[in-house]
Amino acid sequence: MIYQSTRHKNETVTASQAILNGIAPDGGLYTPISIPKLNITLEKLSTLSYQEVAFLVLRAFLTDFTDDELHSCINQAYSTNNFDTPVIAPIHSIGNKHYLELFHGKTIAFKDMALSILPYLMSVAAKKNHAHKKILILTATSGDTGKAAMAGFENVPNTKIIVFYPKGGVSPIQEKQMLTQNGENTHVIGITGNFDDAQSAVKQMFTNTQLAKKIAEKGYQFSSANSINIGRLTPQIAYYVYAYGQLIKHKKIQVGDTVNIAVPTGNFGNILAAYYAKEMGLPIKTLICASNKNNVLTDFFHTRTYNKNRPFFVTNSPSMDIILSSNLERLIFHATGNHAEKTAKLMNDLATTGQYTLDELSAQTFKHLVADYANETDVLTAIKSCFETHRYVIDPHTAVADIVTDRYIQHTQDHTPTIIASTASPYKFPRSVMNALGKDIDQMDDFTLIDTLETLSNIPQPQAVLSIKHASIRHQTVVAVSDMEKSVLNCL
Ligand SMILES: *Cc1c(COP(=O)(O)O)cnc(C)c1O
Repeated sequence: MIYQSTRHKNETVTASQAILNGIAPDGGLYTPISIPKLNITLEKLSTLSYQEVAFLVLRAFLTDFTDDELHSCINQAYSTNNFDTPVIAPIHSIGNKHYLELFHGKTIAFKDMALSILPYLMSVAAKKNHAHKKILILTATSGDTGKAAMAGFENVPNTKIIVFYPKGGVSPIQEKQMLTQNGENTHVIGITGNFDDAQSAVKQMFTNTQLAKKIAEKGYQFSSANSINIGRLTPQIAYYVYAYGQLIKHKKIQVGDTVNIAVPTGNFGNILAAYYAKEMGLPIKTLICASNKNNVLTDFFHTRTYNKNRPFFVTNSPSMDIILSSNLERLIFHATGNHAEKTAKLMNDLATTGQYTLDELSAQTFKHLVADYANETDVLTAIKSCFETHRYVIDPHTAVADIVTDRYIQHTQDHTPTIIASTASPYKFPRSVMNALGKDIDQMDDFTLIDTLETLSNIPQPQAVLSIKHASIRHQTVVAVSDMEKSVLNCL
């Protein structure tokens, strides 16, 4: 299968090259131009393990990997060394809402689902393409990607990873998770700017040929662990396919029934994976794109104008505080009928004027996508109500999707069973969660809040939390956005 840049039709590569390069040289995103069909009956699907489903999906997308290579990557990634449950992604059902818990990995957020396998895919891809240089991963994070990426790459031979995060723009637990990261090959750098500043600068560094030359002299080549890498995107398709099979297995739905999928969205990677699952033939009716107060996507889906000229809000769902939603470019590409020239023009409009408008759109692409957003008070109300009614604690990101789902059902009376992507453990955001549950949070530090949450929820504290409690800070650097490039060279 061929992956093409969203911005140039002659810019094509194999799957392994796309994983290794991360982003195309023209700044576009490598995108599959045809989506493979699910090669299995839905009855059979319900009998497969997580690893078997992952194989089925990756087999279809990563066509230049051998079966053995895929099995080896999958078995190393999706094991009980990395996840606290053998089913990897359990489902918690409340009536017609099915919370797909994607937070049972090392850093208790959904990015572990893909970042636990990416380093293995990348190592295989490097061998396959006879890359002699060491891989340098640059990542901008809004809180979760950075830690999950470092946990994945920690001490993987011939790799180095540098993570940039907005100082003051992530939760204290997220920050401590990153700053205590082990591994000789890991670096964490705070920037005095927001996530979009970090992401834009990282994108520029990737396409900066002079910088590429400088790092090549030191024996490195760039690659990206951000959600634009198809080595992240494709493993994410697997859990939606798996969830559908599990709902059959547990008699929540019957074979062939349609489901809706609601996703708390930031960079549009997770929901794009759900879109691909639908294109593969999974019986999905509607995709619900849920945003927080940074509701640029809601506006886009309602008006077809994407306008990033707007205030940036730091909210209680920080991993979704994003105004420039990178992976949307792939959906735009599909909406224009995989037309690279048109996509490139729109992205150029975005870069020069901060906005673009889709005029000729493929109605088909947008037909099954709805969007809405929730504000911070809504989030607190949803966490409280879910706990008080069902004794189930959800995190603020999941809460965003939960509210938007409830509103969608109310407005449309569409009672199709809905899979809600539960993207983080409540233990990752104890301050907001305990605030929602009416505790006096000003009196407690985060770890006291965690202990209180444990008593209240009856869910044992995950290893991810226990292990940072007494760990010491290893990373202290903070730089201005303009010094990010210099700080990269300093790490080599
Ligand atoms: C990254 C993240 C999101 C947003 O996912 P995207 O793929 O960027 O849309 C939502 N919730 C949590 C907890 C996250 O870490």
